[in-house]
Amino acid sequence: MNEAPEGKEGTAMRVGFIGIGNMGWPMAANIAKAGHAVTVHDGSAERMARFVAEHGGRAAETLADLGGCEFVVTMLPTGQIVREVLTGGAGGGLAPHLGAGTVVIDMSSSDPLGTQELGAALKARGIALVDAPVSGGVPRAAAGTLAIMIGGDDAEAIERARPLLRTMGDRLFDTGPLGSGHAMKALNNYCAAAAYAATAEALIIGERFGLAPETIVEIVNASTGRSFVSELVMKEHVVTGRFATGFQLGLLAKDVKIAADLGEALGIEAPVSRLVRERWSLARERVGAERDHSEAIRGWTQEPDRKG
Ligand code: NAD
Repeated sequence: MNEAPEGKEGTAMRVGFIGIGNMGWPMAANIAKAGHAVTVHDGSAERMARFVAEHGGRAAETLADLGGCEFVVTMLPTGQIVREVLTGGAGGGLAPHLGAGTVVIDMSSSDPLGTQELGAALKARGIALVDAPVSGGVPRAAAGTLAIMIGGDDAEAIERARPLLRTMGDRLFDTGPLGSGHAMKALNNYCAAAAYAATAEALIIGERFGLAPETIVEIVNASTGRSFVSELVMKEHVVTGRFATGFQLGLLAKDVKIAADLGEALGIEAPVSRLVRERWSLARERVGAERDHSEAIRGWTQEPDRKG
């Protein structure tokens, strides 16, 4: 294996990848396919073993096994879990095992204020943190064509990370200081969640009046009410009853909460974000956090499906 401390394009890098779930799996697979030495870590030992069997690399049974990585990518459910993994627990998490100069890239959809706190804690150890959340869902994660929003205070660390990020995404946006990528991601998902809530209400009202759901979605998609949500989520997953986007309801409810909480923390009058937060929180309660996010509409009809 090449020694490639600078992580230059074309040279193999030692990459730790934590969280090989719906998104992390195909992202880590693309890093491995690009020829980098990937060490995966996940709460599920079975997933780690399967990943190594399919894509090579190594499984890190403990966080200490990730020591020696030049880059550590996190793709975990929440920023709180990311902080716990990096600096929490009795042993202080992964950070004490990483050398100075390591770049940690948090690609999860984390909360930006927590990211700034984590950045300060890591910086004290000479470790740089870059936030690089993604958009595009599982299909674009698999294709290596994610949109990536890059925030960070260490310009050199961002440049070192960029070739690695290019193995996972083809649209890279520099958003500004540390946490700005995470703020941007939450705001984007808030827009999508608001579109879903509005389109779901149009479906519920229209159906009660006697319109067929297929007709409503078809006409919205040919008219000014269309959005990514109406064109993909409503058409392919809600009207068909497939409910299989691969993005869990609890994760989107978390993102909306991050965006609305951020507005509150900044003292902004943003009542729509608060209402959308409330609606997604209700859907999570009634439908279940683990269910597909496209099922949220079931939580807002009079007879919610409580299978979750
Ligand atoms: P997921 O639940 O499928 O995957 C999370 C993985 O993390 C699981 O494999 C789990 O075992 C592992 N994990 C959880 N806690 C852990 C811990 N303490 N230590 C080690 N491993 C742990 O979630 P996902 O859909 O892959 O989402 C990951 C992140 O990406 C979230 O922040 C989500 O909001 C964001 N995101 C998801 C999508 C999507 O379409 N699914 C799109 C963009 C962004």
